[in-house]
Amino acid sequence: MKRILLIATGGTIASQKTSVGLMPELSPETLLRHVPDAASFCQVDTAQPLNLDSTNILPEHWLLMAEVIEKHYGQYDGFVICHGTDTLAYTAAALSYLIRHTRKPIVLTGAQKPIDYEDTDARQNLLDSLRYACHGDSGVCIVFGGHVIAGTRARKTRTKSYNAFSSINFPDLAEIRDQRVVRFLPCAEQGEPEFTHTLNTNVVLLKLIPGLPVEAFSAAGKLCDGLIIESYGVGGIPDPYLKELDNLVQMGKTVVMATQVPQEGSDLSVYQVGHRLKERYQLLEPYDMTLESTVTKLMWVLGQSQDRDTIRRLFYTPINYDLLF
Ligand code: ASP
Repeated sequence: MKRILLIATGGTIASQKTSVGLMPELSPETLLRHVPDAASFCQVDTAQPLNLDSTNILPEHWLLMAEVIEKHYGQYDGFVICHGTDTLAYTAAALSYLIRHTRKPIVLTGAQKPIDYEDTDARQNLLDSLRYACHGDSGVCIVFGGHVIAGTRARKTRTKSYNAFSSINFPDLAEIRDQRVVRFLPCAEQGEPEFTHTLNTNVVLLKLIPGLPVEAFSAAGKLCDGLIIESYGVGGIPDPYLKELDNLVQMGKTVVMATQVPQEGSDLSVYQVGHRLKERYQLLEPYDMTLESTVTKLMWVLGQSQDRDTIRRLFYTPINYDLLF
């Protein structure tokens, strides 16, 4: 029988009603008691490094989750992480960079309703995740609402419905139908896992709005080592910020030009307002990467190097299906 480590970190799935709203309180053993069928196909051990609403998840918690997996990697066939849905897509993307080439499944899941509610999606999501982890397909992924989504491609697109997550600019990897895994794409990851232990979290994401003061642009840039600008359409920068962009690049900041449009990604080469950036500043652009992946990949890249060429090479290295361009 397959051995799975269930890592509980909190979220709605483990929450209870309190007088001040839902709070994560349940232990992983209690979560497991709600899915007795799991015992028929796997043997599960548990760990609970945190118990947080995922609103409070920080990059140091991603490192902690990766550390728990690294410590136990040899002992288990797969890992299931129960997590709040709000920042689950960030954690899944971060773990995709922190644990590369994992032959073993690392599955993240959660729920829109606590596991002890009658009409909850939690029991199904947890059972599906354990089943998928036993199926043995490699890589970091999210299992939610019957969908299996690459860890770098997920976004929470619905705040209440049971199909809360979408795969952005990329198809689902698989589905779980009637307790069976129906696989659509081959597994990307093979070989020995490579764990990274450092992130540079000095990254800021700045969303442009028409008329945003230049001072705000400049302040955001000065605060960080890596600035991701969420621009419009396929990408471009409004004229008033050009001088400030010059300064930031001179200061050695890494600047990424992303887009606010959720689907289909960036292409700075199309319009003059973007083309001039590519020519002059050699800015990075995420193309079809999700914003969650862009943020966490930049933290991972800057945690490893300050050299411009290495940053560029690592940023454009496809990992766990994050980038197709
Ligand atoms: N606020 C919760 C969390 O992210 C929402 C959820 O889990 O669905 O922890």
